[in-house]
Amino acid sequence: MCDTGNMIVIPDELKPRDGRFGCGPSRVRPEQIESLAIDAPLYMGTSHRQSTVKSVVGHIREGLGALFSLPNEYEVVLGNGGSTCFWDAATFGLIKERSQHLVFGEFSSKFAKAAKSAPHIGDPEIIESEYGSHPNPVSNPDIDTYCLTHNETSTGVAMNIVRPKDSNEAIVLVDATSAAGGLMVNASEFDVYYFAPQKCFASDGGLWIALMSPAAIDRIERIAESGRWVPAFLDLKIALDNSRLDQTYNTPALATLHMLANQIDWMLAGGGLEWSISRCDRSAEIIYSWAENSAYARPYVENPSYRSHVVATIDFVDAVDAAEIAKVLRANGIVDTEPYRKLGRNQLRIGMFPSVDPEEIAALCSSIGYVVGALSSGD
Ligand SMILES: *Cc1c(COP(=O)(O)O)cnc(C)c1O
Repeated sequence: MCDTGNMIVIPDELKPRDGRFGCGPSRVRPEQIESLAIDAPLYMGTSHRQSTVKSVVGHIREGLGALFSLPNEYEVVLGNGGSTCFWDAATFGLIKERSQHLVFGEFSSKFAKAAKSAPHIGDPEIIESEYGSHPNPVSNPDIDTYCLTHNETSTGVAMNIVRPKDSNEAIVLVDATSAAGGLMVNASEFDVYYFAPQKCFASDGGLWIALMSPAAIDRIERIAESGRWVPAFLDLKIALDNSRLDQTYNTPALATLHMLANQIDWMLAGGGLEWSISRCDRSAEIIYSWAENSAYARPYVENPSYRSHVVATIDFVDAVDAAEIAKVLRANGIVDTEPYRKLGRNQLRIGMFPSVDPEEIAALCSSIGYVVGALSSGD
């Protein structure tokens, strides 16, 4: 039923308390902003080369080590530029000669493209699968770097991170930008697990963070000694040296660091990685079972074991216009449910990162149901 004029008003009792369901930048918890405001007078606008900011960076490095149960020899490295920047840095500082890329969406294809166009390394091996699924790595003795993506944010497909068989000296890089903090991973299965703070870590973009194994660090050091030319901003040896001093090569965004540290503390206080993952698991169960039981919606990803627990992609029947739903939701303060534009489907995409309470996913489903009912009953 249309409520007021052409405007559909979702009743307050159905609506989620917080309307942010984007896949990045994603919901920042109000407590993070409050904490930043409290610390601001002695923190914001101060030098990142002094102990106040360095201690926050140190806190982040230590906290991530605890959150991911990193073995002692692993190191947390960070730098400016976000995950996209890390792809270019990896073509300079981690890929020796030839990489293998599993491509199953927009983000994994971008890293493959970066490797393909880098003139100083060989042509990468690219293994693709249809969108909505994921390929598996194929052991190949020519490959020195396997490039996996834990969660394809564009399609809502997640894959289990398992080191390829017979990988020997090869290292395993995992794009975990939207997965880190929301999906399970074991440090023994990767050499580099990299991400940015604007997804599960509920902070702002512009930073990359990489959890690195001794093999990855060894690779960085050997390439640095080989004399390969590397732009300083993309130089992982420089990033490593700075990270060890709890610094970044150039000036970082201080608010981003603060909100990131707060989110890591929140996850650890709640019970660690398993706890934050359990929130995403519950949200996923709620939204996928809702879609499966609905007359007009269904999960885009057919294989239940591929369905992401941090990013849900929900298809709608032709009679229901998903873009119209997203528009009405937005007018009601429920934002960023639009699908990944290049996928071109009649779809909504919902971020279910740890900051989103599973009850709010249930409220979102009720709100969508209300909008669909209102759209089909009146014009
Ligand atoms: C968001 C995202 C990126 C891009 O991150 P930026 O920090 O914006 O560069 C890369 N990979 C995946 C899987 C993502 O979800």
